[in-house]
Amino acid sequence: PDSALGYRRVLLKVSGEALMGDGAYGIDPNMVDTIAADVAEVARSGVEVCLVIGGGNIFRGVAAAARGMDRAQGDYAGMLATVINALMVQNALERHGVPTRVMSAIHMSSVAEPYIRRRAVRHMEKGRVVIFAAGTGNPFFTTDTAAALRAAEMDCNALLKGTQVDGVYSADPRKDPNATRYDRLTYLDVLAKDLHVMDAAAISLARENRLPIVVFNIHAPGAFPQVMRGEGLFTRIV
Ligand code: UDP
Repeated sequence: PDSALGYRRVLLKVSGEALMGDGAYGIDPNMVDTIAADVAEVARSGVEVCLVIGGGNIFRGVAAAARGMDRAQGDYAGMLATVINALMVQNALERHGVPTRVMSAIHMSSVAEPYIRRRAVRHMEKGRVVIFAAGTGNPFFTTDTAAALRAAEMDCNALLKGTQVDGVYSADPRKDPNATRYDRLTYLDVLAKDLHVMDAAAISLARENRLPIVVFNIHAPGAFPQVMRGEGLFTRIV
């Protein structure tokens, strides 16, 4: 079964901030449930789905470093934050009847499987939603880069990036009324125009592996399945 965009296997990147919902920090269970419902719908349509979850709603290494913490140590704490989020999302998906596995880049065998690429592929072939936790497992990276890395490793047809707005704009549409939305961009446009979609390492990795990035609004309930059908608003980076 193919989606209208023709994607059979996709990776969805959900930032930690998306899990806050309207809150200022932490996790909003209603928001997690909305995202889980959307992922469940896409998985049931026959598309193989894997997820990378961020941790910015709990802890960010860069922010901690700005207050004097050792950067690498802060980044490890940030990676652990993504594991907390992954467990929340796993639980929400299970409540929607979706079989899932959490695979962590930092070994934590009591709560998650260790990340082993070939095993992850096998899980996906069996229809399980694989949640990749702990980013890349390395400090000085982000979960955006982890998303591009895992999507390339899993041979995904696309990386879907759920954000707060319905695509990529020329400026922040929440601050600039003249901001215009792009339907399609190239990787080089994103880098040259400094469009802040994902960090440069993630964009470069996607470009080298010809991995399309689809940016859409994850806050709109039903948006993920809609985008997979090729409907609604989104920006495609190719
Ligand atoms: N992080 C890291 N290496 C990785 C992924 C994440 O060190 O491969 C740390 C980093 O400190 C980051 C934090 O985990 O600030 C949370 O991830 P991120 O900021 O990417 O989450 P998001 O912005 O998506 O919520």
